[in-house]
Amino acid sequence: MKKILIIMAMEAEAMPIIEKLGLKKLPINEKLHSCFPRYRGEYEGNDIIISLNGKSKEYGVDRIGTEYAALNTQSAIIEFFPDLIINAGTCGAFSADANIADIITTDQPAMYHDHRVPIEGFAEFARGHYPTIHRPEYFEGVDFKLGVVTTGSSLDMPQIDEEHIRNNKGMAKEMECASVAAAAQLHGIDFFPIKSVTDLIDVEVDNVEQFLENLNKASAKLGETLIQVLKNISN
Ligand code: SAH
Repeated sequence: MKKILIIMAMEAEAMPIIEKLGLKKLPINEKLHSCFPRYRGEYEGNDIIISLNGKSKEYGVDRIGTEYAALNTQSAIIEFFPDLIINAGTCGAFSADANIADIITTDQPAMYHDHRVPIEGFAEFARGHYPTIHRPEYFEGVDFKLGVVTTGSSLDMPQIDEEHIRNNKGMAKEMECASVAAAAQLHGIDFFPIKSVTDLIDVEVDNVEQFLENLNKASAKLGETLIQVLKNISN
């Protein structure tokens, strides 16, 4: 039996998956002051834990982004010692690379596109290059693209970030992957991301309705894919 930890930032994306997998909510572990909602159960013979970044007490929204992704991952690693970590979520992509709801994973290191420290040694350190694993057999029967997943702290894309993303051949632009990968690397645990495209970063989003429609479509695809991958892992 493999212990698989799935890190997710947004509750709305995670809940349908948690329900489909039949995972049960775990009590908050006061000793670890974790505050990260966690769900656990057996699926296809593996021990599955989904750990959410949780909601901000101050603002009531999901704690998206790098800091809480790293804290969530680190505390879940210490609590569960998983064999494998998956970061599932949404991302933006260039229109030349992907369509809405396409699935992107990677066979290349995870990196940051907005950590700029132009000093020898620190420049490369800041960019990240955290290891990921790609097992084609885990993605059998899944329609997916392979590309660089690139992480930053903003939803928008200023020109300097776009230059870095293009120079690094970034395909999926999001806000958690490199942080989860860094925590996995610290503890020597295999890691890979699964991202579903909610927005095209070089195309103006014209209305909220379209945006919400994309989110539903992308979340549904993310859920289907994750479940297929979990089935493949157990085979
Ligand atoms: N498109 C998302 C935006 C929510 S805020 C949605 O409809 O819910 C950003 C969250 O979505 C983060 O967790 C981030 O990882 C992911 N994300 C999706 N598209 C993104 C983009 N273009 N840039 C950065 N993060 C993006």
